[in-house]
Amino acid sequence: MNKTINMIVAGPRGKMGREALALIERTEHFRLVGCIDRKNDGMNLRDLEGMPAFDAPIFTDATEAFDQVNADVLIELTNPHAGYHHAKQALIHHVRPVVGTSGFSTDQLQELEELSASNATGIVIAPNFAIGAILMMRFAKEAAKYFPDVEIIEKHHDNKLDAPSGTAVKTAQLIQEVREKHKQGHPDEIETIEGARGADVDGMKIHSMRLPGFIAQQEVVFGMSGQTLTINHNSADRASFMSGVEFAVNEVMNREDFVYGLENLME
Ligand code: NAP
Repeated sequence: MNKTINMIVAGPRGKMGREALALIERTEHFRLVGCIDRKNDGMNLRDLEGMPAFDAPIFTDATEAFDQVNADVLIELTNPHAGYHHAKQALIHHVRPVVGTSGFSTDQLQELEELSASNATGIVIAPNFAIGAILMMRFAKEAAKYFPDVEIIEKHHDNKLDAPSGTAVKTAQLIQEVREKHKQGHPDEIETIEGARGADVDGMKIHSMRLPGFIAQQEVVFGMSGQTLTINHNSADRASFMSGVEFAVNEVMNREDFVYGLENLME
């Protein structure tokens, strides 16, 4: 039988937070011991209308939450500003963060890596918890060895704060490992409307769409003379992320290091 893992969820009222609560509810060895929320300080989750009936105290102050509740893991699903603070406090308190929140800066990631090392506490940050998206990135890196001209089109719901998405950035970074820098398109091309060609990473382009109706979708489109290749992944439901969250929570319990990207746990 698996050992019980006690966890705090940050952002329990959010769309991802609610899916995480449902995951905890259906997973025998997962136990919710507290929540970090933007409001409802001092209340209990079971007293909030429309929330699952967990007996879990709510804190607005992350330090207080980690001081008062004995947790093994923080599941962080808020926004980049709050998420960075929560993950930092968790590491200081030797609670292992599993972070789905995307949009951290390079400096923030570096600081979390240093804190993980100095506190010998594992952390998993995954810009995308969907297993299919991890495979999409892996296949894109493979294709880029043969197709150096590539554009990434990511499509998300219109409540998303960061652009491009963490997944698009991660895909571009993986492609950078195998692709020589070069300008794509016509050498003399001009944008008659600013931004028409998208964001530029070493000459490859990233386009971000934000529309109601999407959850998370990404196409990586490769082109060469006479042929194109499209790798497409679609998360049609936020439940698509939860098998990855479950996997990361179980894995982080065995780690004392910083892991960025679910693929680094899968290999
Ligand atoms: P959401 O529905 O807006 O939920 C965010 C929640 O965080 C809200 O309940 C919000 O409360 C709360 N919050 C804001 N500031 C807070 C603070 N200081 N302390 C505690 N809670 C706070 O967003 P979502 O769709 O669930 O997404 C959450 C995060 O996960 C985003 O960064 C998103 O990009 C990311 N995401 C990751 C994956 C992945 O696979 N890694 C997949 C989907 C989404 P209020 O509503 O009261 O402000």
